[in-house]
Amino acid sequence: MNPSSGPIEPPPPKRRQSQRTLARKGARWDTHTHAEILEIVAKLLIEGKTNRELVAHMHDAENEPSFTPHHLYHLEQEIWSYLTFKFSFDGRDRAMGASLQQAYPTLKAVVVVCGVTVAPFAIHAATHIIDSIDSWLVANRADERAVYRIGLYGGRTIKAIMQALSEALIAIDEDKKRHYPKLIFHALSGATSLHHISGPSQYFAYFENPLLAPLDIEFVDFAPLHPAFGAVRAQALGCNLVLTSIGDFHDEHSVFGSLRLTNLPAWEELRQAQCVGDLAQLPVSSSGPLSLHLPPSALQLRDLRTMLKSGSARVMAFVTPCCCCGQPKLAILKTLMALLQDSAHQLFSDLLIDRWSATHLLRPTIYERLPPRK
Ligand SMILES: [Zn+2]
Repeated sequence: MNPSSGPIEPPPPKRRQSQRTLARKGARWDTHTHAEILEIVAKLLIEGKTNRELVAHMHDAENEPSFTPHHLYHLEQEIWSYLTFKFSFDGRDRAMGASLQQAYPTLKAVVVVCGVTVAPFAIHAATHIIDSIDSWLVANRADERAVYRIGLYGGRTIKAIMQALSEALIAIDEDKKRHYPKLIFHALSGATSLHHISGPSQYFAYFENPLLAPLDIEFVDFAPLHPAFGAVRAQALGCNLVLTSIGDFHDEHSVFGSLRLTNLPAWEELRQAQCVGDLAQLPVSSSGPLSLHLPPSALQLRDLRTMLKSGSARVMAFVTPCCCCGQPKLAILKTLMALLQDSAHQLFSDLLIDRWSATHLLRPTIYERLPPRK
């Protein structure tokens, strides 16, 4: 019999090839689709499951034996966006915030924001700032003629926060707006001459919205060479709230890291002084603030310490991965947290931190215990 007359056999399925394609696109799940995996993991995270419990649940209850901590690591950003969108999740990890608060009892408040990008972080920061103004109003029984001064150390993170703050202020109700104190924003540092993309003048535009007209808002730019610098400093010492991000010395996008390109002698001086990074755009080493006053600033770190001690101001430190390269600022973060253990070195009262960076402060998480790749 002529074999060609028989039924034509279909070509063998290109199984190997399609598996390779899938593998390139990401994980393959044994039982669920990727969307289902996202939903399951998201719900467990809302319930406060730890990473270890979550992986065990995926193995035992969901029949996903190939789910590993590596998958959790890679799903992280996707999950937080999904959670916020689908479940109106408020985006804060309260359990982790409470653990950090317990570990660092000198802090007045800790907010842990899920996700690693600056936009959702800025919204939580703005809410926290408005809450602080509210509690100040209550504590001081302030009337509408009161003045609330906010000091700014501006970088890209603070710029994003100021944009979110302008939008949050628009959203407060009209009656409250009429009884709000006058807000005066003070730029406190000359570091913005290094960071021309994010100088305080960049913030002003966010507050020029007509919807903010019922509020009385003023901006004071930083002018260290002005004959009235003494007055600038006196106003800065009178701030009710100081807002600052932190910078890692070895990140070229930080105030001091960028000196390596623009002013090598200054960078070298900081390096020899064992600068780890900056808070309030002023240099810090593992033994505390460095006495190199570079760049000019209306306040020094010892002023922040004094203001915190006297209870006259709150200082909020905003910790996110670098807005440019996405690297977490771990060296300076760990240094600042170690300094908090000694009340003489307390430089901030409120910590707002992304969850990813926070996992490096609590007991080593599952991420840090990942086995090395073979
Ligand atoms: Zn960077």
